[in-house]
Amino acid sequence: MKKEISLSCVKCRAKPCVKGRLEALPSFCPMRHLEGLLKHVEELYRDSEAAKLAGAATRVALKGDYAWPRVREFAELAKELGAKKVGLAFCAGLSDEAEKIASLLEEWGFKVYSVCCKCGSLSGFFAKLDPSVILCNPIAQAELLNRAGTELNAIIGLCMGHDALFAKYSKAPAVTLIAKDRVTGHSPAVALYTYYHRRLLQPST
Ligand code: SF4
Repeated sequence: MKKEISLSCVKCRAKPCVKGRLEALPSFCPMRHLEGLLKHVEELYRDSEAAKLAGAATRVALKGDYAWPRVREFAELAKELGAKKVGLAFCAGLSDEAEKIASLLEEWGFKVYSVCCKCGSLSGFFAKLDPSVILCNPIAQAELLNRAGTELNAIIGLCMGHDALFAKYSKAPAVTLIAKDRVTGHSPAVALYTYYHRRLLQPST
């Protein structure tokens, strides 16, 4: 049986790892206790796909000087990866946003494939719900984009949990372009900043 581990980076205010200051790691730092595992992770980056994506993501952030909107970053990431075909897995409720993103990406020269969350009109029966309910179908979104051969996929407002299923079945790397939040205009962190939103985060509400 694997030994239980404790991971508490949130409790580390100084975060010396950010500057590579190994001498200042706190006693509970995983870099002290899980060195072997982290060495194994370094090996994973030797896989060319992982290194390609990691490098492209960092180059985009640096190129934009941390000042580009996320939609621009998506286009830049696709360009860095040399992708020609990009996929949009979007929520029906964000159809307008998806349409705008699709036209923009076409202007950038990409071939855009988009699939709505209700594609397949899947009956609630398959999730042990009322059969008359039409389910979101993130697996269909992923499989259709897989079939199209997209090289980078964007999640546009898929529901909490459906996004996980999409990412699991998507063959191309799946990034979140818009994180659905019905209360904050799709800006989940906003709920952490105001008293009124924070009240809605308590387990009892
Ligand atoms: S220094 Fe260690 S404990 Fe602190 S944030 Fe970095 S990895 Fe986590």
